[in-house]
This record gives sequence, C-alpha cells and structure tokens, in this order.
Amino acid sequence: MTAMEKKDPFIAGICIPAVGEAGKTGDWSDLKPVIDQAKCIPASKNKPACFLCWLYCPDAVVTMTIPVTIDLDYCKGCGICAEECPANAIKMVRKVECDESL
Ligand code: SF4
Ligand code: SF4
Repeated sequence: MTAMEKKDPFIAGICIPAVGEAGKTGDWSDLKPVIDQAKCIPASKNKPACFLCWLYCPDAVVTMTIPVTIDLDYCKGCGICAEECPANAIKMVRKVECDESL
C-alpha cells in the first residue's frame, strides 16, 4: 500500500458529550430547547422520519428515537435545532422556566 492510498473510507469524526473541566456543558446555557411531541414528526406520525434536530445538533445531545429526546446536561442552548425543525416543534425557553416544567 502506498502512502496516498486510503486505509478505510468510512472513518469519520464522532462527537460524544462528556463532562469537561468546568463540569457538564449544559450548565453554561441560559436557554434550553423544549420539544412539543404533538408537533414533532416522529412522535406524531410514529415513524422514524425527519430527525433534522439530531442531524444538526453540534453537541450530539439529541436522540434519533421515538420520541426524540435531548440530554439537557450537555445541551448548550444554541437553538440550531429549533431553527432547523420543519414542524416548529422546538421552542427555546429560559432555563428557569424549563426546569420548572420538568
Ligand atoms: S426536527 Fe423537529 S420535527 Fe424533526 S425530529 Fe426534530 S423536533 Fe421532531
Ligand atoms: S439547543 Fe443546540 S446543543 Fe441544544 S439540542 Fe439544540 S442544537 Fe443541540
């Protein structure tokens, strides 16, 4: 094998949430996403479809499951999932309001 040949065409970077030096990264944020499962496509149709929030989340804290869930211990509250959701099913709320509804 020459130096220019690829060893494995399927190698990719994978992001996994983990505790950092400053603790769980979700502690830093002020805003948290809340999913309205009645609007969310996988939950409302009971089909493994959409999952754009899972695809776009830069912190890999969204599950590709029915229902979709978000690990708030590591969510940074960036709001990308809410921006990308085609069903308008994700609302960004202040962390205080979110904690009260859990
Ligand atoms: S992007 Fe919106 S509709 Fe699609 S799975 Fe996520 S929350 Fe549900
Ligand atoms: S707010 Fe940002 S970090 Fe949190 S689940 Fe949505 S995309 Fe991921």
